[in-house]
Amino acid sequence: MTSAVPMVETALDLHSLAGDLEVLMAIEAEEARQHDGIELIASENIASRAVRAAQGSVFTDKYAEGYPERRYYGGCGPSDRIEQLAIDRVRRLFDAVWANVQPHSGASANLAVFFALLQPGDTILGLDLACGGHLTHGSPVTVSGRWFKAVTYQVRRDDEHIDYDDLARIARQTRPKLILVGGSAYARRIDFARARAIADEVGAFLVADIAHYAGLIVADLYPSPVPHAHVVTSTTHKTLRGPRGGIILSNDEEIGRRVDKAVFPGIQGGPLMHVVAAKAVAFGEALGADFRRYSAQVIDNAQALGSVLQEGGLRLVTGGTDCHLLLVDVTPFGIDGRTAAEALERVGLTVNKNAIPFDLHPPARPSGIRVGTPAATSRGFGISQFEEVGTLILAVLNGVRAGSVDEAGIRGSVARLTASHPIER
Ligand SMILES: *Cc1c(COP(=O)(O)O)cnc(C)c1O
Repeated sequence: MTSAVPMVETALDLHSLAGDLEVLMAIEAEEARQHDGIELIASENIASRAVRAAQGSVFTDKYAEGYPERRYYGGCGPSDRIEQLAIDRVRRLFDAVWANVQPHSGASANLAVFFALLQPGDTILGLDLACGGHLTHGSPVTVSGRWFKAVTYQVRRDDEHIDYDDLARIARQTRPKLILVGGSAYARRIDFARARAIADEVGAFLVADIAHYAGLIVADLYPSPVPHAHVVTSTTHKTLRGPRGGIILSNDEEIGRRVDKAVFPGIQGGPLMHVVAAKAVAFGEALGADFRRYSAQVIDNAQALGSVLQEGGLRLVTGGTDCHLLLVDVTPFGIDGRTAAEALERVGLTVNKNAIPFDLHPPARPSGIRVGTPAATSRGFGISQFEEVGTLILAVLNGVRAGSVDEAGIRGSVARLTASHPIER
């Protein structure tokens, strides 16, 4: 087992792509785009070189259907080691009894949980998309809305926080088999204990989808659903800063066994062992003290950015944030979210258009933009850089409102910020 091996050459070595210039140039264009712009999409981050090294490793070649010590193919010794390491680390990170690290993505993690716990036609109850929920929580364009009877709860009209009374009322009326909490554009803390009490009252499973908050939870900066939910799903590439992928956690081993069977063979074939290896690396990084400091900076930065935007006349949904993201209503400037997002992209500030609760505008031209701090914080941005980003966002949107944006000047400011905070490759 302990043979001395030379340093492995990894796929990070772009020289090996010299014979395929079309691919090489696309990768280099993406590298330049990331370096030269300021990434403010709340679901994105910048994985470490170590994470990418593991993801580019020889584990991409290996079939390892099954689970550690229970595989369908031979030659799975190293795969068992790496997957067990990922499982042990993620259980330690979240203080969870059981974990599955094989889901290819957040959507796959959710689908596996549905397959484990539901029958077609069952009722599921999730947060309304315009209130910050996720497509996979019952939207009719996904399996979750097509194969299940999906009902939604909303946020309160006055303060835009989750309306737990509405959740309880709809749960009593519709008797869902499964209740989902979590979302993609909800900036406040979630009361997981209260959601569990409602689920227990109606005999539903509580599933917490922490795709967005996972990194903040392991840093103890956002409440953990693990003690409360029957099942927890997450991505690994958002605030957790790992490779693109999914995980599922539970404190109930019986549910864990059902979900294991649902992931494989239920909805997936062979696990992406190279991604599992990269997950193990990311979980190791998240166990370190630096990760807590990073996560605290992510939240401080979001709050500083929010204050600048608010003082500049934009409206923050819920009036602020407890996490890494801001949902910004741009209609006080007389513009819509799509126009805002497009104008920001032209100067190298990448955000996404987003609906706001009870949005009066159509999804193609919603009232808001969503802005997040995890990626730029990973390249070293602190509060003063984010205050400048806020000033630049205001300059762009005020320019749009007035009919002329100083694109060259703002691009120059973006270039100074990115040059002084290079992405370390
Ligand atoms: C991002 C996200 C997902 C989907 O993750 P993918 O990896 O893109 O499939 C699921 N749920 C929530 C709440 C998310 O934010």
